[in-house]
Amino acid sequence: MKIVVCVKQIPDPADPGALDPESKTLVRDQKLILDESDSYGVEMALQLADANGEGSVHLVSMAPDNQIAGLRTALAMGADSATLVSDEALKGSDALSTARVLAAAIARSEPDLVLAATESSDGYTGTVPEMMAEFLELPSVTFAKAVTVDGNVAKVKRQTEAGYDDVHCPLPAVVSVTAGVVEPRYPSFKGIMSAKSKPLDQLGVSDLGIEPGSVGWAGGNQEIVRIADAPSRAAGEVFEDEGDAHERIVAFLEDLKVL
Ligand SMILES: Cc1cc2nc3c(=O)[nH]c(=O)nc-3n(C[C@H](O)[C@H](O)[C@H](O)COP(=O)(O)OP(=O)(O)OC[C@H]3O[C@@H](n4cnc5c(N)ncnc54)[C@H](O)[C@@H]3O)c2cc1C
Repeated sequence: MKIVVCVKQIPDPADPGALDPESKTLVRDQKLILDESDSYGVEMALQLADANGEGSVHLVSMAPDNQIAGLRTALAMGADSATLVSDEALKGSDALSTARVLAAAIARSEPDLVLAATESSDGYTGTVPEMMAEFLELPSVTFAKAVTVDGNVAKVKRQTEAGYDDVHCPLPAVVSVTAGVVEPRYPSFKGIMSAKSKPLDQLGVSDLGIEPGSVGWAGGNQEIVRIADAPSRAAGEVFEDEGDAHERIVAFLEDLKVL
């Protein structure tokens, strides 16, 4: 079974950088790392490949400036190989262009299963996996909290507000997984060393048969019209205990409808 995992490489959340006021996009010229959201998909794929006996895990990422550190981390966790798509023409790509490029890169591997995170953690739309599925003409299952493969069927527990749905989906398919559903393994020293020699293809848009003018700023269908600072968090309410603090706390929580 061939599993492809989408791996977004993002600025380190401890040093997220800044928004460029001209383009209104995140500046990504610092070292990028593996998005934690995608470490769950990588772990899930490794577990599925192990359970299947003959599985392989291939990573696909689109990132600026030939950045590969996040891919190396996922290879060190145990993935077998990776493809990076990096090209000047991709600067300014919106979510639809990103999905188009990732789908073209994924199609080259003819996978049985494609995993992505439900949403990335830097600037997210939560739409890329479903748009990739459309480009690949594959069914898509979202919000997976557990995935097993039985023959040609993916059995997915799909998280809902009330619990979960059991969804059975024919393979190949695209499945987006929610954060925190598995415990991502730490790369071992042996894993880190062997990651350096694992196959890592680097492609540009023309390798994927994509017209440079159909992606990036040139091919964008969306425009970022305004950016604003996130509102600072309001101060919390302090209850001084004059014997009735517990009642006031209960009333406060009832007001918020959490009780
Ligand atoms: C007009 C416009 C211009 C933009 N210009 C730029 C720009 O110049 N530079 C820039 O960095 N961003 C730019 N962005 C943001 C960029 O389009 C998004 O980061 C990209 O579309 C990915 O979408 P997302 O993070 O919202 O994905 P989501 O839908 O939230 O991601 C879900 C999952 O899809 C997969 N995925 C998403 N993106 C990737 C990826 N790149 N590689 C591998 N897997 C992935 C991951 O598994 C991820 O967890 C721009 C956005 C717009 C609207």
